Amino acid sequence: MIRRVGILGGGPAGLYLAMLIRRRRPDIDVIVIERSPADATWGFGVVLADGGLRQLEAADPGSYPAIRDVLFWTEGQIFTVSGEDVPLDKSRKGGAVKRLDLLRVLQAQCRELGVALHFNTVIADLTVFDDCDVVVGADGSNSLVRDSHARAFGTEKYLLTNRFAWFGVDHAVDQSHLNFKPVPGGALVGHYYPYAPDRNTFVMECDAPTWEALGLDVKSDSERRRITQSFFRNELGGAELVENNSIWRQFPVITNENWFHDRFVLVGDALRTAHFSIGSGTRMALEDAIALADALTFGLEREAAFARYVEIRAPAMEKLRAAAERSFSWYERFSEKIAGQSATSFALSFLRRTGRISDERLLRDFPAFVAHAREKGLVLPKPLASEPVA
Ligand SMILES: Cc1cc2nc3c(=O)[nH]c(=O)nc-3n(C[C@H](O)[C@H](O)[C@H](O)COP(=O)(O)OP(=O)(O)OC[C@H]3O[C@@H](n4cnc5c(N)ncnc54)[C@H](O)[C@@H]3O)c2cc1C
Repeated sequence: MIRRVGILGGGPAGLYLAMLIRRRRPDIDVIVIERSPADATWGFGVVLADGGLRQLEAADPGSYPAIRDVLFWTEGQIFTVSGEDVPLDKSRKGGAVKRLDLLRVLQAQCRELGVALHFNTVIADLTVFDDCDVVVGADGSNSLVRDSHARAFGTEKYLLTNRFAWFGVDHAVDQSHLNFKPVPGGALVGHYYPYAPDRNTFVMECDAPTWEALGLDVKSDSERRRITQSFFRNELGGAELVENNSIWRQFPVITNENWFHDRFVLVGDALRTAHFSIGSGTRMALEDAIALADALTFGLEREAAFARYVEIRAPAMEKLRAAAERSFSWYERFSEKIAGQSATSFALSFLRRTGRISDERLLRDFPAFVAHAREKGLVLPKPLASEPVA
């Protein structure tokens, strides 16, 4: 029987899991250990798209209104290449949320439900969980739980060659933007979106050739911020990029062949990282938590509960993981793609990067892009007789 669950990491996955377990099974003790203070976190806003929100509502109608209340809604995305806007219409409605607001909502729900939350607690090993039947690694991409049993989990890690840093901006932009900008020796891409009426997240990214061409490899992080933001002076309206642990780094791709081992099980970024270009890391972490909570509260023995978690979650996760892999591979050396083609054919290559946009979907879901591309002389598949395009 599962009576006590220990969770390492009070990020989105750990807190949501703790809350769901206690909501469904108040007889199970849940303890969360988090190294940071309750009111501090890295980063700024994150996007939770429409489909993910519906899952949160279905999983726990009790907490959903509080999550919905801290969301800032946007619709559509402006896609810009070399200063030219290209209309891409298939953009979903999404809510962005300040990461800390999301954590605060989840912390409050956990407290109400009697989860034992321990902040500011740094542990050197996992012995603190010796009295737990289940130990969950919700401790992010540098997971101690995972790395303590890396061989059993079958962990694989590698770094992408692109560099990125996560900033904030105290300046209003109306919509989500993806802005590819040629610079001397390469190109930068700014992924930026509002998460409050006057606040934006700004993820700055460059590929390896650009990193060297701009001399960023020999600069400090603040100098890198100053240099790269200067190319977005107009878009930023003269505002500065704001730092919050904004370290320039290479994205770690992490996978685990086994999701559980003995008493230990992984969720969220500890289990697998999802590249930010598909915007789904937080959503995936929360959906892992839903699947694991379902499995752990079903009244099964531990091993069977873990197997059920994998069975529920693996198919959807595999699809997203594969899409993320194709997406980040496309982004590697994106400056060469920009240099070698028109803005419109670059946009088409972007749309098709994950392999999920078939000819039919392109014609059906992206009529404004198709019309624009034809106007620019791009040869596209012919419309199907049954599917007129705009
Ligand atoms: C640049 C960038 C942009 C992103 N944009 C988006 C986006 O728009 N939408 C989206 O959905 N996702 C986005 N993500 C991804 C998202 O932030 C992560 O996927 C998500 O935070 C994963 O949640 P998690 O709970 O698994 O891990 P984390 O959020 O990393 O939380 C792990 C927690 O564990 C704690 N911890 C770690 N080790 C220990 C330890 N030894 N002891 C105690 N505590 C520990 C940490 O302090 C942290 O609080 C982005 C990520 C990056 C890098």
